[in-house]
Amino acid sequence: MSPSKQSCVSLRPSALHELGSILKQLNRRRVFFVVDEVAVASSGMEELLRLSLQECDVSRFVGFEPNPKLHDIERGIDQYKGFSSDLIIAFGGGTAIDLGKLIGLLARQSNPARSVVTGESMIECDATLMIAIPTTAGTGSEATHFAVAYVDGSKYSVAHPSLIPDFAIVDPHLTFSLPPAVTAATGLDAFSQAIESMWAVGATVESIAYAREAIDHAWKHLKQSVLSPTPESRLGMCQASHLAGKAINISKTTAPHALSYAITSEFMIPHGIAVAMTLGAVLDFNASVMPSDCVDPRGPEHVKNRIQMVVETLGAVSVQDARQKIENLVSSIGCFRSLSEAGITREADLQLIASSVNSLRMSNNPRKTSTESLLQLLR
Ligand SMILES: [Zn+2]
Repeated sequence: MSPSKQSCVSLRPSALHELGSILKQLNRRRVFFVVDEVAVASSGMEELLRLSLQECDVSRFVGFEPNPKLHDIERGIDQYKGFSSDLIIAFGGGTAIDLGKLIGLLARQSNPARSVVTGESMIECDATLMIAIPTTAGTGSEATHFAVAYVDGSKYSVAHPSLIPDFAIVDPHLTFSLPPAVTAATGLDAFSQAIESMWAVGATVESIAYAREAIDHAWKHLKQSVLSPTPESRLGMCQASHLAGKAINISKTTAPHALSYAITSEFMIPHGIAVAMTLGAVLDFNASVMPSDCVDPRGPEHVKNRIQMVVETLGAVSVQDARQKIENLVSSIGCFRSLSEAGITREADLQLIASSVNSLRMSNNPRKTSTESLLQLLR
């Protein structure tokens, strides 16, 4: 599927002040506003949002659970249709942005949301015009053509070229009030997405350029943005997460993401932390790719060259040194650098994680895995 749609991005301090002029330029008056109310209150931007939207009729969609669930998506679709909106604005973290994307797409299909999300029905129409305003520096969802949805406890990824929001307003001021734990977990997601994108089978010259820049920003700014945030480090992490979003929009993610879903659902570990728990080990594993187990058609040398770029971008002298640096960073911001550090050591638990990997994500990993090789990596 082509991720080619271009969106208009404003990424800078005070970018939110552009919302009013974007609305004037679009000349849309009926706004469906998917909003994380906690994020609005803590951002201190309530008044600016009110002023920006004062000439529009607004239907606020609030009160949704973390991680988009089918019942929230269906509730949103009903509210959206009842209001007959022509523009969606999503304000919040990855959940709010993904909900905005899904409601704007699924409300326009003739088939029920459930059957489109689970892949039983095709997507027939493009998504509604959308402005995404992320309040975390993490998922980069404002730059991708996919959205996550949960149906009966199972995770699905809905993909369509029109899911890339038409406008993205990425304002680091919106992240200033995030507590350290959220900054760490979301920032690790961006960092992992960037590193995984570098070695992904789906990587291209373009995605590699985005990913490399994203790693550089995250490497420079993640620790500071958690431990003693400055405007510069908050801006740096917004750049990291947006660029990592642009990178995985092309390349998709790999083994650490494939392994993370069971770690999150079984052990209640936040997504970004769960992903980072295996990142160093997967770097090590992928660096030993051989002709016999290389999944990337460009061959093991090509994969190794890209891994070497990761090593260099981290300022490391070897793969082992890069792994150490990654694990030290994860530790320094108060997160688990391995499963054992989180107390997940029982063989049955490791078996469960290794056997419930997302096979689509895993097939994008450059080195072939087996349950046995995954278990070794997890121990
Ligand atoms: Zn992620």
